[in-house]
Formats: sequence, C-alpha cells, structure tokens
Amino acid sequence: MIKVVFLGPPGAGKGTQAKIISQKYNIPLIVLGDILREAVKNQTELGKIAKKYMDKGELVPDEIVCKIIKEALIKVNAKERGFILDGFPRTLEQAKALEKMLKELDLSLDKVLFLDVPDEELIKRMLARGREDDTVDIIKNRLKVYYEKTTPVINYYEEKGILEKVDGLGDVDKVTLRIEKALGL
Ligand code: AMP
Repeated sequence: MIKVVFLGPPGAGKGTQAKIISQKYNIPLIVLGDILREAVKNQTELGKIAKKYMDKGELVPDEIVCKIIKEALIKVNAKERGFILDGFPRTLEQAKALEKMLKELDLSLDKVLFLDVPDEELIKRMLARGREDDTVDIIKNRLKVYYEKTTPVINYYEEKGILEKVDGLGDVDKVTLRIEKALGL
C-alpha cells in the first residue's frame, strides 16, 4: 500500500506512468484533469465553471479542485488501499491544502515522485498527442503556469525529504522501472 503524488510538467508522461503503476499494483488512481474533463463533458455546474479556466490553460480555482480531491480520496477508500494522485497539487497552496485534508482523513503521504523531462521534449510530445487543448500557444502557457506555480511545490516536498526525482527520458518501460525503484515497489 502506497500513498503517492506524481509531479511533473505537462507532457512528461506522468499520466501514462501513473496508470501503469496503478494497474500493476492495484493502487487507486486519482487523475484530477480526467475528473475535470468528465465534468466538462457532462456539463455539470462544476464543469461549466472549470471549462472557462481549462480552455485558457489556466488553473481551476483551489476551492473547486480541493473539494474534488477530498471526495475522490474518500470514494476510493484511500485509507485501506492507498492512492496515486496525478495533477494535484500544482501550487504551494494546494500542497498545504492536501496536507490538511490528508490529516483530516487520518492519512499521510509516503512519497512524491517528480518526473523530470526537458522543455523541448515536452513541447514535442504534447504536439504529438494532439489533444484539443494542445496548441502551441496553450502548451507554452501551460508550461509557464507550471514553472511559476509548481516549482515551489517541488521545493516544499524536497524540504520534507519525501521527493523522489526520476529521469523521464527514454522508453516507457525503462521509466517505469526507475519509478518502481524510486517508490520501493
Ligand atoms: P491536465 O490534464 O493535468 O493537463 O489538466 C488539464 C487542465 O485542468 C489544466 O490546464 C487546468 O485548467 C485544469 N487542472 C488540472 N489540474 C489542476 C489543479 N491541480 N489545479 C487547478 N486546475 C487544474
């Protein structure tokens, strides 16, 4: 049983790797971006608000995303089964909010996995996957938002001594092996 956050810039392959690890070890996977896209698709109240931000590559307000994450942690029975969080936290405020909500649920983080990939490779990969919000301008904005907001999160977990940095370049299988080693799986 492991409780872990996957961090990394958009396009780093963290979604792919989180899915592989989740399936292989039967750990519940909570992907914030997927939950938000589902809400947009279903045109829920929350989805309508979220869409305005997502269309511009901006972060959806903390109040909304924190509520989603807390509900998801309860729903997957994180206490018994652990969890992999993908896409949250992305800001220092969210990292602190996560700590608070985990405490309320009598949970704690084991590790934070940071998948490291250089910018040129990220832009190349994102253009190749051709998602609706993957145009060059939106990609550049998302990387900018990422560096501004997420660097303090990485530093925060590094100071706590739970950050595991993994090289995200190379074959999917090889990266998976590095992650397994870093997480002690
Ligand atoms: P992703 O699938 O992780 O690339 O996320 C797609 C979009 O969902 C982002 O561009 C944001 O608009 C929104 N989003 C995802 N994660 C978060 C988060 N932790 N906080 C706020 N907004 C988020």
